[in-house]
Amino acid sequence: MNPNLKQSVLVLKGIGEETAENLAEMKIYTIQDLLEYFPYRYEDYRLRDLVDVKHEEKVTLEGKVHSEPSLAYYGRKKSKLMFRMFVGQYLIKVVFFNQPYLKNKIVMNETITITGKWDAHRQTITASEMQSGQNNKTKDFEPVYSLRGKITAKGMRKFIQLAFQQYGDYIEETLPLSLVNKYRLVNRKDALKAMHFPLNQESVKQARRRLVYEEFLQFQLKMQGLRKFEREHSPGLEQNYQETKVNKFIESLPFPLTNAQNRVVNEILTDLKSPLRMNRLLQGDVGSGKTVVAAIGLYASVTAGYQGALMVPTEILAEQHSESLKRLLEPFGIKCELLTSSIKGKRRREILQALADGNVDILIGTHALIQDEVTFHKLGFVITDEQHRFGVEQRRVLREKGENPDVLFMTATPIPRTLAITVFGEMDVSIIDEMPAGRKAIETYWAKPEMLERVLSFVEKELVKGHQAYVICPLIEESDKLDVQNAIDVHTTLSTYFQNRFKVGLMHGRLSSEEKDTVMKLFSGNEVQVLVSTTVVEVGVNVPNATMMVIYDAERFGLSQLHQLRGRVGRGSEQSYCILLADPKTEVGQERMRIMTETNDGFVLSEKDLELRGPGDFFGKKQSGLPEFKLADMVHDYRALETARNDASLMIQSQAFWTSKEYEYLRSQLENTGVLEGEKLD
Ligand code: ADP
Ligand code: MG
Repeated sequence: MNPNLKQSVLVLKGIGEETAENLAEMKIYTIQDLLEYFPYRYEDYRLRDLVDVKHEEKVTLEGKVHSEPSLAYYGRKKSKLMFRMFVGQYLIKVVFFNQPYLKNKIVMNETITITGKWDAHRQTITASEMQSGQNNKTKDFEPVYSLRGKITAKGMRKFIQLAFQQYGDYIEETLPLSLVNKYRLVNRKDALKAMHFPLNQESVKQARRRLVYEEFLQFQLKMQGLRKFEREHSPGLEQNYQETKVNKFIESLPFPLTNAQNRVVNEILTDLKSPLRMNRLLQGDVGSGKTVVAAIGLYASVTAGYQGALMVPTEILAEQHSESLKRLLEPFGIKCELLTSSIKGKRRREILQALADGNVDILIGTHALIQDEVTFHKLGFVITDEQHRFGVEQRRVLREKGENPDVLFMTATPIPRTLAITVFGEMDVSIIDEMPAGRKAIETYWAKPEMLERVLSFVEKELVKGHQAYVICPLIEESDKLDVQNAIDVHTTLSTYFQNRFKVGLMHGRLSSEEKDTVMKLFSGNEVQVLVSTTVVEVGVNVPNATMMVIYDAERFGLSQLHQLRGRVGRGSEQSYCILLADPKTEVGQERMRIMTETNDGFVLSEKDLELRGPGDFFGKKQSGLPEFKLADMVHDYRALETARNDASLMIQSQAFWTSKEYEYLRSQLENTGVLEGEKLD
C-alpha cells in the first residue's frame, strides 16, 4: 500500500481540522479510508418507461404537468403537495412531502423531471427531487453514501473527488497480475474510480466484482497464513497413545462406528500423535455421535499419560456427558469426574486435589473448569462442546491450563460451509456427515396456534403408545422472567388437559440445579410423560423414549435452533414427530417453517438460515469474530469467496509467495495480530 495514501485526510487541500474531525466520526482517518468509503447504493437518474417500472421502485420520470398543484398543511411543519402529470401516455399523480416551496415551480403544461418512489397500485409517485425542464442530469447514476454527523451528501462527494484529484495516482494494484488477467479484473484505480464516479451500471458491476474478489482474497490469505503459521509455530504434544488399547475400546462399543465417525477418529488420533498442536473443529448434526468420538480421543490421550477435559455450556449437559463417559470409560480403568458450580465444599476440594495429583483422568464440567482454583496435573487434551457458546477468552483460559494441549471444538450447529471457510479458516475442520444406521427421519409439521386442540390430541396418541413428549415454550428474548412465566402458563394448561392420564413436568432456567436434575430424572425414567420446558433442553439432552416435540411460537427461533430442539427426539428406533406451532406474518417466516418441514439435514438448514437471516444474525448479534467486509457479502458473493479461497491456498503453498509483494501486504495486515512475533493466538 502506497504510504502516501496512509496520510491523514488533513493533507488534502480543501479539508481542514473540522472536516477531518467530522470524517473521523465516520471512521475515515486516512486518504485510503476516504477512497474506500464506498457508496451503499446509487441513485438512478436514467429516464424510464413507466411500463418497466416495478412497484416501489425508485425512478426518474420526465413529463408534463397536467393539473394545478394543491398544497395542504397538517401538523406544524408537515405539508403535502400534489398534482397530476402526463408521462408519455400515462396520467399519474405526483406527491411531494414537506417541500411546499416547490409549488411555484410547478406550472401547467411545463415539462419537469422528478425522482421518487413509484406506487404501481395507486399510479402515484412519491417524489423527493424535481427539476424544471427536461432531464438535465449530466450523470445517470449518483453514489449514495451512508453519512454521519455534519457530513452532507454533497460534501462527501467533494471530499472523495479531492482525494482522487490529489492522490489518485498513488493507487496501486494489490492483486497479482496473473489473477487480474485470469479473471479479467478492472485494475484497482479504475475500480475505485468507478465506484465513486459511476458511468453506468456495468462499470459499477465490474468494479464491485474486482473489489469483492480482492477483499476475499486478502481475507483468505490472512486466515490461511495464520493457519500455516499456527501449524508451524505451535509446538504441541506428541501424544503416543496406546493403539491396541484404543482399538479394544472401539471394539467394545455396542455399535460399529459409522464411516464418518471412523474418519474423524482417525483425524483426531493423527493430530494427537503429531508434534504439532491440534486446533480442530468437529461439526456433526445432533445425534450423529460426537460424544463417542470425543470419548475415544480422550481415552487415547489418557493412554499416552495425559489428562483430558471436556467443557460444556450447561450443567444438565455436563451431567449427561459425565454419565455417558463414565459408563463408557470406567470399565477401562479411567477415572472421570464432574465439576460444576453446584459441587461445593469438601467434595469439591477432593476433586480438585485428585485432579492436581493426577488421580482424575478426565474432568467434565461447565465454566467451573476454567476457574483459577482448577489445576491439572498434566492436561493434554481439551474438548469444548457447542464451541460458539464459549467466548474466545474462555477457550484460551482452558487451553492454558496445560502446556500446549491439543484442542478440539465440537459443535452440533452445522456451520454453513460459507461461514466455516471464513470464520474458521484458521482451524482444521472435521465433519460427521452421516447418521448412525437405523434412524428414522423425524416427521415435521407446521400448525397454526388455533389448531392447538388437534395438536394435543396427536400428542396424546403418542403418549398412549407409551412414548413421551417435549413441549418447548415461547421464547422471549432478553427476558428470562417472561420465559419462565410462559413455561409456567403452558405447564398449567397442559397439566389440566392431561389431568389424571399423564404427568406433566416443568423445566426452566430459574430452577436450582437439584430441581432441574430431579425433573430430568423423572422424565428420563418415564415417571413424567410430558416435559414442558424453556430452551434449556436445547443441547445434548438424551431421552430416546421421547418421540414428540412441540414448539410454541416456532417463528421466533432460528432454523438452526429449531433443528437443535427437534434433535431431542428421533433418538430411538420409533418414528418421531415435531410440530411447529407458528403463525409467521412475513413471507420469510413462512418460508422458514416450510423449510423445516421439508428437510432434516442440518447443513441444508444452516445454509438456508444464513441466506434468510444474513451472516450477522447467524450467531447472534453479540458474536464477534465474524469478518466485516466493506463490499463483499459472504452469502451473495459466495462463488467469489470460494474462488478466492482456492487462489489463496495456491499462493500460500507456493514458495514464491513468501517473498512476493502480496506477502509484504499480508505481513502489514498481520502486524497487529501478534502472529508475526510468534505470540499464541486464538
Ligand atoms: P451427538 O453428541 O452428536 O448429538 P451422541 O454422541 O449423543 O450424538 O449420539 C447419539 C446417540 O447415538 C447416542 O445414544 C449414541 O450412543 C448413539 N450412537 C453414536 N454412534 C453410533 C453408531 N455408530 N451407531 C449407532 N448408534 C450410535
Ligand atoms: Mg453431544
